[in-house]
Amino acid sequence: MDDTILVTRSSMPDIDEYMDEIKSMWESHWLTNMGPEHQKLQKELCSFLGVENIELFTNGHMALELTLQAMGLQGEVITTPFTFASTTHTIVRNGLEPVFCDIDPVTFTLDTDKLENLITDRTCAIMPVHVYGNICNVEEIDRIARKYELKVIYDAAHTFGETYKGKGVGSFGDASCFSFHATKVFNTIEGGAVTYRDKRLGEKLYELKNFGIHGPEEVSAVGANAKMNEFCAAMGLCNLKHVEEEISKRKIVVERYREHLEGIDGIQLNAFQPEVKSNYAYFPVIFEEKIFGSSRAEVFDALAEQGIIARKYFYPLTNTFSAFHGKYDVRETPAALHISKRVLTLPLYADLSLEDVDHICGIILKLRS
Ligand SMILES: *Cc1c(COP(=O)(O)O)cnc(C)c1O
Repeated sequence: MDDTILVTRSSMPDIDEYMDEIKSMWESHWLTNMGPEHQKLQKELCSFLGVENIELFTNGHMALELTLQAMGLQGEVITTPFTFASTTHTIVRNGLEPVFCDIDPVTFTLDTDKLENLITDRTCAIMPVHVYGNICNVEEIDRIARKYELKVIYDAAHTFGETYKGKGVGSFGDASCFSFHATKVFNTIEGGAVTYRDKRLGEKLYELKNFGIHGPEEVSAVGANAKMNEFCAAMGLCNLKHVEEEISKRKIVVERYREHLEGIDGIQLNAFQPEVKSNYAYFPVIFEEKIFGSSRAEVFDALAEQGIIARKYFYPLTNTFSAFHGKYDVRETPAALHISKRVLTLPLYADLSLEDVDHICGIILKLRS
């Protein structure tokens, strides 16, 4: 191993703990298809996340994609471009049309003041994204969705384990989709989940992740294969035991970053959301070149020279992807464009040492004018 510091580092349990968890599979020979580990993880996650219903998936992307399919939507879905490729892709892959709403420049989530103007008679749903651990304005989104009878599907990939006013983040909207990818706060190697309100949606999700099979001799939908396998579920069961501790370690790292970078001219840090119990998923920093004295690119390069790999996240915006052949106009989301050109997420994981944080901040602060 060299001493490169990457933007994140996957959480792993002790190897013996994992061995214990998977041992029974050598007797049962049950490796996938909603086996005992899958069922156990579903149950434990419901209680950890404070939700009633959950369905596990092979990854967060398929959780989102099949949720849209399960709802049988048609027309336009309002979303934001300040997100990972997955969010927008799931809309387009379902034959739906994304309509991009701008973001709030403080929380980086959907700007609810701009939402109602985008609703047309073709709008069927809203897919807001909780960003960096910041929770969307769920109350206002709920009010508008009720008024226009729209479905709400949250991309909750960044908010595992969070609560808003004491309620699990997965209990808002019609459904919330989580990612358990290796780089996320909680991982099952690859994995994802949907938490949802209506039990009938759960039945559809269960079928769609298993080819649309309804019974031994009936296939009632054109489904996919998106089942979480037993080895991934076992990894999740082990990681879940330590995730609270991992989050408290992340908090210490974040506090150290803030000590160095808070109040520096030309630097914007993530705002504190008083009603949110945070998971400290990311540490975004916005560099305003004219005031700070160096651009985001200069900071990125200076860190990279020292073997520290930050991430331009989210950049580029999804409404600028060449995959969409110039179909969308980025000028309609100016706040998202502004942030995406200036943001850098700094390395953050439970075992990142405070000395490393000091070192990273030292390099950044040297670039001040
Ligand atoms: C990680 C992520 C996804 C996709 O999840 P996968 O598990 O990698 O498929 C979707 N949306 C956001 C915002 C993400 O960060």
